[in-house]
Amino acid sequence: MGAAPRIYCPKCEYRPVAEDRWECIPSCGTAWHTFWTGGVCPGCGYAWLVTQCPACGGLSPHKQWYHSPEGTPGSEREHEFERSGA
Ligand SMILES: [Zn+2]
Ligand SMILES: [Zn+2]
Repeated sequence: MGAAPRIYCPKCEYRPVAEDRWECIPSCGTAWHTFWTGGVCPGCGYAWLVTQCPACGGLSPHKQWYHSPEGTPGSEREHEFERSGA
């Protein structure tokens, strides 16, 4: 582990789980886990550039869901969102 990018919604920070599914609509109707294929529909091969969040419903560019744990300038700001006490 370690180098793998963390995947979460750029709007609400929801982290997709294995049970989540996205549907290729209105194209072929396939339901699949879009982060297992990098946004590519396994049914018709269409590459989705925008991914909808199952939690907040927001539409974000697929690439913005990937957050590199290192090498991102200013990423130390993420610490502000980590659990504090309690
Ligand atoms: Zn969201
Ligand atoms: Zn499709």
